[in-house]
Amino acid sequence: MRILITAGPTREPIDPVRYLSNRSSGKMGYALAEAALAHGHEVLLVSGPVSLSPPAAAETVFVETAAEMHEAVAREIGSCQCALFCAAVADYRVEEVAEAKIKKSGDSLTLTLIQNPDILGSARDRFGFTGILVGFAAETDALETHAREKMERKGCDLLVANDVSRSDIGFDREENEVVLFYRNGKKESLPRDSKRRIADRIIEVIEGINRESDA
Ligand code: C5P
Repeated sequence: MRILITAGPTREPIDPVRYLSNRSSGKMGYALAEAALAHGHEVLLVSGPVSLSPPAAAETVFVETAAEMHEAVAREIGSCQCALFCAAVADYRVEEVAEAKIKKSGDSLTLTLIQNPDILGSARDRFGFTGILVGFAAETDALETHAREKMERKGCDLLVANDVSRSDIGFDREENEVVLFYRNGKKESLPRDSKRRIADRIIEVIEGINRESDA
């Protein structure tokens, strides 16, 4: 399969020197890219700004903002049979980006934020994607309820959920512990392990979904 993977955070500018972002390191997305390549797939990696080197065999497109990530995915998804949306996309961006560095003045500063496009949410409806769609959900509470609702709303075949309220796994860690939610209502807990081994299992599950859809 040709697999599109979004990875890392996005960066939403405030002025020429400042931005809003989040704690995503891109490690899970890059591990997925390595696992997919090791399983013999083609990988198109759409990456936000991270300090990792992409696997040499992946075709990589670097982006900064959610709007740029949306545009890159819109352009590339049609050539892929599977898409894994692992990026931690900023939900909001600054409405008016200042052209010059904002000077300190007064006790408070108000920024107006407006919603970014939901890239995963656009895959089925706006991009007309019919391949295998995998979403990721970082939650701090009611993991299963939020994960199942998100899966339904965004038309995913599989949702990978992790509990980001824990500091020993997840954001910027080498290890992760996730729960896979399947469309048929089943779930599979993957115990704490390296992101690469978690990624290998996710790729295996996707290959299973692909075999079922071919049958
Ligand atoms: O709604 P939430 O952001 O928790 O959904 C998480 C999933 O949606 C992830 O797969 C993430 O990559 C994707 N997403 C996206 N575009 C957004 C927000 C989230 O693709 N603007």
